[in-house]
Amino acid sequence: MSGGILTIDLGAIVANWRALDAKTAETVETGAVIKADAYGLGVGPVGQALQKAGAKTFFVALASEGVVLRESIGPSARIFVFSGYMQGDETAFEEFDLTPMLNSADQVMRFMADRQGTAYGLQLDSGMNRLGMEADELASIIAQIPTLNPVLVMSHLACADEPEHPQNAEQLTAFNEMAATLPEHRRSLSATGGILLGPDFHMNITRPGIGLYGGDPFMDARPVATLSLSVIQTRPVAVGESVGYGATWVATRPSIIATVAGGYADGLIRAMGPNASLYAGKTRCPIVGRVSMDLITVDVTKLTTVPASLDILNATQTVDVLANAAGTIGYEILTSLGNRYKRVYKD
Ligand SMILES: *Cc1c(COP(=O)(O)O)cnc(C)c1O
Repeated sequence: MSGGILTIDLGAIVANWRALDAKTAETVETGAVIKADAYGLGVGPVGQALQKAGAKTFFVALASEGVVLRESIGPSARIFVFSGYMQGDETAFEEFDLTPMLNSADQVMRFMADRQGTAYGLQLDSGMNRLGMEADELASIIAQIPTLNPVLVMSHLACADEPEHPQNAEQLTAFNEMAATLPEHRRSLSATGGILLGPDFHMNITRPGIGLYGGDPFMDARPVATLSLSVIQTRPVAVGESVGYGATWVATRPSIIATVAGGYADGLIRAMGPNASLYAGKTRCPIVGRVSMDLITVDVTKLTTVPASLDILNATQTVDVLANAAGTIGYEILTSLGNRYKRVYKD
């Protein structure tokens, strides 16, 4: 089969979810963030696996993602939508039983006008200045709607992957102060990074994303994704001959070059080129020349036999290693993984 095969280890995702769950007290619920198609790995299979493992609360970015998730996991789980009650999504919220995190007074008012009596959460801005209400906006809706009863009140940390950053404690205080002006409710502040900051940050429910999928800052995560690219052809390249666009790589010894099916159109970021490798089992074979749209060229001279495919993501070259090679973060590598790959799931 041509192209790439992306193997997703659902057992590893479940193990990572359990490991993150074990970092918080029994009384703290562990949710699961499966926005952006479960960080590129497939919202249906990932959602089903986590639900089977015991996850009851899921978070997505957009209502349209919540619809796909609801169709995969059925009626029982709670699905929160971070972007809140956006215009045009009204029927999705109603028909698919989605719960918006309301981000502004305007969203609160429109929600109350349309869907009074159904569940909602509130998102507060504790210092990131991205989503959620600030203290004065919150005070104004409390004054207008004395009966506010959100099922969840949440905020998001800007610097949780830097445990020493003073903004973590500042946001914790700001969030608790704002939330204290609301009637009794459940609270959530922490994504993967926040879980690792300790119990003050855990509150009632956590929202891990990247840690489930094997990425930093959860250093103990089990790797989840293996990506194998088919070798289309191999050729000998003589000393002085170049490989690829711009002729940036020139052979200094007689070489064997394999051309594999995968490129920047598949999320294999062009900038990673000379810093990343492909693997034949455990043997590292460097990328030579530029990554092109659909193809990558690899120096396989040291292999005695060239396999039918070479791996670009494995337990050694994880999403974070590849991200470093490309000057980005594991999140971007995962969410860029293209739709030309055949996705294969194992338990
Ligand atoms: C994406 C996101 C998360 C998950 O973050 P990770 O760093 O991937 O664990 C949690 N909460 C919010 C609001 C998010 O946008």
